[in-house]
Amino acid sequence: MRTREKCGVFGVYAKDREAFPYLYWGMLAQNHRGHQSHGFATYDGHLDYYTGLGLIPPFKEPGMESRVKVLKGGVGIGNVRYTTSGSSDADALRRDAMPIMARGDERSLVLSFNGNIVNVRRLQNIVGLDGSTSDTHALASLLVEEYERTGSLPDAARRCMETLDGAYSLTGILDDGTLFALKDPLGMKPLCYGFSDGVYAFSSESTGLAINGLEWQREVRPGELMTIRDGVLSQHQVVPSRRQAFCAFEYAYFSRPDTRYNGRYVYQCRRGFGAALARIYQDAVERCEIVVCLPESANDAAYGFHVESGLPWEMALRRHRYVSQRAFITDGVDRQTVIYRKLNILAPVIVGKRVAVVDDSIVRGDTMRGNVGRLREAGAREVHVFVTYPRIIGPCFYGIDMSSYGELIGARLEPDEIAREIGADSVNYLPMDEYIKETGMRPDQLCLGCITDRYPTEMAKTLSEVMKERLSQGAVEEGRIYETL
Ligand code: 5GP
Ligand code: MG
Repeated sequence: MRTREKCGVFGVYAKDREAFPYLYWGMLAQNHRGHQSHGFATYDGHLDYYTGLGLIPPFKEPGMESRVKVLKGGVGIGNVRYTTSGSSDADALRRDAMPIMARGDERSLVLSFNGNIVNVRRLQNIVGLDGSTSDTHALASLLVEEYERTGSLPDAARRCMETLDGAYSLTGILDDGTLFALKDPLGMKPLCYGFSDGVYAFSSESTGLAINGLEWQREVRPGELMTIRDGVLSQHQVVPSRRQAFCAFEYAYFSRPDTRYNGRYVYQCRRGFGAALARIYQDAVERCEIVVCLPESANDAAYGFHVESGLPWEMALRRHRYVSQRAFITDGVDRQTVIYRKLNILAPVIVGKRVAVVDDSIVRGDTMRGNVGRLREAGAREVHVFVTYPRIIGPCFYGIDMSSYGELIGARLEPDEIAREIGADSVNYLPMDEYIKETGMRPDQLCLGCITDRYPTEMAKTLSEVMKERLSQGAVEEGRIYETL
């Protein structure tokens, strides 16, 4: 089964130095963006790459040391990948692990990709691949074909951008050692550029730069290609960008709090979300005696909520440090077990209390349903749920695993109905305009597809219409529609 991904990418050019240590730490700082596979590629007169399953192993692990010996040279890229399909088929994971190498007749390149190509079928047809591999294989093939045909990377990138519908931020290396970084014309996925002391780097999140002591310079622009060859940086606005549509969900859930976008730390945004919830829902807040949160993605919002509301913040839901399985990516019954094992509740702190619970998002509602139930079992008198991400009412076509209307509790039910369904006394979502305000972005700079059901690319618009049309005719949704059309 083809898989979609939400990944982390990195790229570095370090003249007269080894790229690998930069890659290693740059990717480790972004391992939260993908835990199913990892990989690195370097250039030292020729391209070499290595990929492995699971989290990035410790630097001192014997296997890692032997890899370092292979991956020589001052130019490198890295990837961590998070596949969001139900299949955890190890063969598929291995085959689609990145970086991916594409060989044309004469030229070759390696690619590290974050995003999702919505018109993947069309792309696969163009390059003559079937649906058995990830969209990155098809994209890498198109890029190498066009590069051979035109002899120009900017021209090849332009042709790709004109062909693709979807979200993509990527790093790559050509077989002549050129490092490149590219962002789709709507800039949907993060990618920033940093430089210090002769070292150039690109990273999905700024934490990849910070851990390497590299100074953040700016975001790669929507529709921009940046290249570094022989220590010379070039910038090409490959296609004009009519607007930005940066994924709004990055702020609520996906990114690290110590990452910054356009100069603002995600931590500040999340504190702001929590404070705004406390301000807006004063009636619900007044009923509560303590605030708790689901660690770790809601910690910062809970802090903001606590400061604004004055309610004591109790760390009553604890997560063990070595949890690696994420509830989100397992299915059905299994997900409830994972959710249960993930957290432990300190009942004495909860018993007899009216509790405010803060979380970053409700997608299917499984996480909240499970935890509201457990808070009640622990003796909570009332449970009021506060959610920083506005109500999700539409699927994501750009790389977050929520691909049908039916699976989204917020697409089916109003907040008071959701509260009944998950057993809470109230469910309070941050309104969209308040959310946007705290991000520091303008509404027309964000992709708000999943909270407005209006999508910034043509193919996604069409697909959501088709899905709704089919639903209204009583059809059962079958997963990822763009893989079948
Ligand atoms: P639900 O259980 O409602 O389907 O999902 C919501 C929960 O999953 C929230 O606690 C949120 O932190 C988490 N979550 C939301 N999006 C993602 C994602 O893309 N990946 C993972 N691993 N967790 C997510
Ligand atoms: Mg969570």
